Amino acid sequence: MAAEVIEPDGDLTIVCHDTSFQVCSKAIALASPVFKAMFMSNFMEGLSVKNSDPSNPAVVKLPEDDPEAFRIFSNIAHHRLDRLPHQLEIDQLDGLAMLVDKYQCASLIRGVGRSWILGALRKRSRERPREELWLLLHFAYVVNSQTYFSAISRVLVESSPQPFLRWKYARDNMRTFPGELLAQLDLLHNQILVQMQLALMDPVLCLTRNSCSECRFKIDGYLYRLFTLEGGLIPSTPSFGKTSIASILQSLYSMEEDALDWYMKECERHPMPPTLKNRVPVLEDLKKRIGALNMCLKCIKDGYCEKHVVE
Ligand SMILES: [Zn+2]
Ligand SMILES: [Zn+2]
Repeated sequence: MAAEVIEPDGDLTIVCHDTSFQVCSKAIALASPVFKAMFMSNFMEGLSVKNSDPSNPAVVKLPEDDPEAFRIFSNIAHHRLDRLPHQLEIDQLDGLAMLVDKYQCASLIRGVGRSWILGALRKRSRERPREELWLLLHFAYVVNSQTYFSAISRVLVESSPQPFLRWKYARDNMRTFPGELLAQLDLLHNQILVQMQLALMDPVLCLTRNSCSECRFKIDGYLYRLFTLEGGLIPSTPSFGKTSIASILQSLYSMEEDALDWYMKECERHPMPPTLKNRVPVLEDLKKRIGALNMCLKCIKDGYCEKHVVE
């Protein structure tokens, strides 16, 4: 079978599974330190590459590699960007991620990889299966995309109704992720939940400081307002923990802007202390509290990160 020509003057034929590619060994070696080491070695591949030329190309067999992923890799390595697919499907990105990890060529793929992640995210913005997000997160992780790793992990955490440690799909498809990732995602999930509950309970704590009946009545009204939201969002109740963060936020943001702050209006029986009067509106406080909670590549690669340190 004739080789697919990536580089007409190529001195090397790479056979991936059932497809072969004519490439230039120098371009491939520059793109990946793993190939470089292979070609420089005194093993069979190294010796045959050193003695090869375009009229008599060396042959290197990579029977386990995905030809589609290798085609993308070698086109980028030879700067043939016009031959790249405009968009990749999730399973193609997943295959490419494994190849990028194996041949340590994250920086080569990152630029175009980011546009494929963006394309995949745009393609289906609603009702995206979490399994797809998981594989996209892995691709972002492998190509070292800080922005997309943070953004996708946050979306996953917000849409997750259950602990990640109990999510079978993730456990069965850890790819090249470190084992601690699931626990770290659960930790982030819990941190966001705690901050949301603190923000929602703040008006209650403020009002309980006054032992007047009108203030007590306001507490009841406030809690009832939360209770009547979709899912019955009383902090610290089991239903709060079972609802995904995304649906809690959706319920909260569906209210009129000052619905929760209405209960904090001046009490007729006594003046409100200035600290209560000048407090930040509930949802604004909530957004601020959870906005900074995130995870980055350093968090997961080093297991610790100053930016996202847990207090
Ligand atoms: Zn009062
Ligand atoms: Zn971090």
